[in-house]
Amino acid sequence: MSDIHPTPQTKLAIIKEAWAGRKIAQIARKYRVCRDSIYTWMHTATQACLHALSPQKRGPKFKKLLKSEEVILSLEQKVSNLEMEIKRLSHDSQSIPSVKYANLVRPDHCPHCGHTRILLNGHYPVKGADGAFVDLPRFICKQCRKRVYL
Ligand SMILES: [Zn+2]
Repeated sequence: MSDIHPTPQTKLAIIKEAWAGRKIAQIARKYRVCRDSIYTWMHTATQACLHALSPQKRGPKFKKLLKSEEVILSLEQKVSNLEMEIKRLSHDSQSIPSVKYANLVRPDHCPHCGHTRILLNGHYPVKGADGAFVDLPRFICKQCRKRVYL
């Protein structure tokens, strides 16, 4: 047994010889170290090699997680945008009639009886100046039920 500690290079040389298949007792005698030390270094070297060759390194794993988080975030953003679009479209489709009828120009009074309650009674096509048909609103008098046109 040597009382001088072998250098890491010497230890590596010993481990290489042991892994090459040489008998531990021969190596121990050659380098003047005890066999238990050789077994301990072999075990340590094996653990270090396994750790070094392991694919579960922190870096790539962290990067991968970050990328999937980015994907989740972008999808959440898209879902939120689509929800807002649905809300907007739903609101628009519900508000179209009220907007349409709020801007509707109604006759002030019935030309037949003078009643002021004039109700919308559908639309009728009218040939415009350019030859295309335009739908104009048709009204009905609440009192005398006669059709009223603008
Ligand atoms: Zn009338």
